[in-house]
Amino acid sequence: MARVAVLPQKIISQLEKTHLLTVGQIIEKLKKSGNTYNKTSIYRALEKLEIEGKICKENFGESEALYELRKNHHDHAVCTNCDKVVAVECHDHTNKKIPGFQADHHHTTIYGLCDSCVKKS
Ligand SMILES: [Zn+2]
Ligand SMILES: [Zn+2]
Ligand SMILES: [Zn+2]
Repeated sequence: MARVAVLPQKIISQLEKTHLLTVGQIIEKLKKSGNTYNKTSIYRALEKLEIEGKICKENFGESEALYELRKNHHDHAVCTNCDKVVAVECHDHTNKKIPGFQADHHHTTIYGLCDSCVKKS
C-alpha cells in the first residue's frame, strides 16, 4: 500500500530540485536515483498531483508539456527564438478582481526574446 504514495512524493522532490520538467525528464531522473516506473504510473501520479493542486502543467508554444510545483507562484517569460523559459515575479493581480468570479489560479506567459537572442539578431 505504501508504494501508492511514494511515487508522487518522489516526483515532488525532483521538481523541488529542477524548475520545469517534461514527463520524459521525470522518468529519467527517477531512473538515475534507482527507481524505474512505467509511463502509466508516472502519468497517473502526475494527474493525481495536478488534481490535488500540488503541481501545474505548463504548455509553452510548440514545446512538450512541462510540470512544476504550484507553490511559490511565479509567471514565465519565454523566448520565442530559443524556447528558453525564465521564472519571473508575478505582477498579474487582476484575476483577483473579476466580478462574479472566484479565481483559483492562473498561468501568465510573457513572450519575447532573451538577452542572448537579442544580441545575435
Ligand atoms: Zn533566446
Ligand atoms: Zn515556473
Ligand atoms: Zn502570476
